[in-house]
Amino acid sequence: MPSKEALAAQDNATYTTSNGAPVAEPYAVQRIGLNGPVLLQDFHHIDLLAHFARERIPERVVHAKGAGAHGYFEVTHDITDLTCASLFSKVGNKCKATARFSTVGGESGSADSARDPRGFAVKLKTDQGNWDIVANNTPIFFLRDPSKFPHFIHTQKRDPQTHLKDADMFWDYLSQNPESIHQVMILFSDRGTPDGFHHMHGYSGHTLKFVNSEGKYNYVQIHFKVRGGFKTLTDAQATKLAGENPDHGLQSMFKDIEEGKYPTWDVFVQVMTPEQAEKFRYNILDLTKVWPHSEFPLRPIGKMVLNENPQNYFAEIEQVRHPATPPAAEGADSYVAGCLLSLSLGARCRALCGPSPPVASVFLPGHPPSSSWCELPAAARQRAIVPIANFQRDGFMALNNQGSRPNYQSSLIPLSYKPKPYENVKHEVWLGHANVDLSQITELDFEQPRALWQKVFSDTDRDHFVGNVAGHLGNAKSSIVKARQLSVFAAVDQNLSDRIAKAIGHPPVKPLPVRPASEAIRFQYKA
Ligand code: NDP
Repeated sequence: MPSKEALAAQDNATYTTSNGAPVAEPYAVQRIGLNGPVLLQDFHHIDLLAHFARERIPERVVHAKGAGAHGYFEVTHDITDLTCASLFSKVGNKCKATARFSTVGGESGSADSARDPRGFAVKLKTDQGNWDIVANNTPIFFLRDPSKFPHFIHTQKRDPQTHLKDADMFWDYLSQNPESIHQVMILFSDRGTPDGFHHMHGYSGHTLKFVNSEGKYNYVQIHFKVRGGFKTLTDAQATKLAGENPDHGLQSMFKDIEEGKYPTWDVFVQVMTPEQAEKFRYNILDLTKVWPHSEFPLRPIGKMVLNENPQNYFAEIEQVRHPATPPAAEGADSYVAGCLLSLSLGARCRALCGPSPPVASVFLPGHPPSSSWCELPAAARQRAIVPIANFQRDGFMALNNQGSRPNYQSSLIPLSYKPKPYENVKHEVWLGHANVDLSQITELDFEQPRALWQKVFSDTDRDHFVGNVAGHLGNAKSSIVKARQLSVFAAVDQNLSDRIAKAIGHPPVKPLPVRPASEAIRFQYKA
């Protein structure tokens, strides 16, 4: 990146109003005499204040505090048996990438060392359109039913009356919705406080679908494994940093990229056939479950390197928008649809620019598309490779309104249509009743958190976990909430619960009653 001095030397810009009229003195205001009233005719002054008052767009309701950078994704292994997405047509193919990392609950000025999951949003500019991979730094999430999302988020934010974060509210939700326990186990391990944004893994968490040129599809989960390993902070280090440098994560990634220490992730997929999915112990559409590595090993597909800081944070990172997917790499679980809807609604609201990105309509029937917001440079598609043409016109921010091209399917000036990338695909045939509650709690919900506690955590991890939970749950005032959450921990492991109970001075609690695994909703489809 050129230095600020070099930029100043080459820029040679003239100070003007927003309409391009040169102004000799930026601080000058037209007024009568030395003390008289300012004049309404002073366009420069009005222009200045009018824009200043509109500088802020609403911050994201979730994932407001972020950091991001640009780089590339490179295909390192042949996966043409899995997908016909053109990005993967050849080993060595590269595309531009932008990644935005974030905390979830905090406001945009909040500390980025806070205990919170981290968003790990990757935009790949492929020649079949943008591919947004909406990932997190944890392989699972707090819930599997997207309708719970706004309720859950409210409880992790501020109390309506006190405007304070509230431990009772936080644990009240989690203890009433025990499918959250797997995410709670990771959140309160030291992985809940990563050391900066660029020393952590990313996981799609969602189940995606890759379709090959013969129309055969497989389910996949994407993993970004950071080179150098997942680095974490202890609770004490994270708390100290929150006071001393709330921008630690943002600053350290920017600095490393400036110094040429480019963060690099090796990218893998776990692959499951539809037949395996039906026999799998867990429902592949359940966002609270991982696919065990021993059954579904990581298969390498590429690498992502971030080697360029933004020149303008607002334009290139704050305004980067989601979500969209190219053909042959689609979302499968209902939470993906929830995300696509929620994130695109959020982006539209923040940009005040009307309906959703066109590609989202593939997944959201009845959700009206629009071209306009995708014209923002941060969201713009790889226009040099794929000239955009469609029938979307007008609306807010219609930066590219497609000139005189007809706004309907015209036989006189027809568009050209690319053939489908795959033929004869037979997708799932879904069967069942509407309004199914996905959140019944069964023994299955505790098996993976138990494996994490009993097999993956070291003794130090366990000590830190108990201390981290005790430090937070101990702040809840309600003994009902405390006891209920302890009963959730007891369903994972009685010893785990007893250790936390002791640390917060609460009597031991028995496991909450749980339905048998056989009552869990199974993944079923008919091909
Ligand atoms: P494995 O032993 O094959 O994998 C364990 C995984 O746990 C590794 O990916 C490791 O990541 C990760 N890990 C290590 N320490 C922690 C921690 N403190 N918090 C969260 N994750 C950690 O086992 P399984 O695949 O059978 O999974 C066992 C449990 O591990 C799961 O129930 C889940 O809780 C957790 N896990 C599983 C993942 C998966 O995709 N299968 C992914 C991440 C966690 P690393 O590569 O950095 O060592």
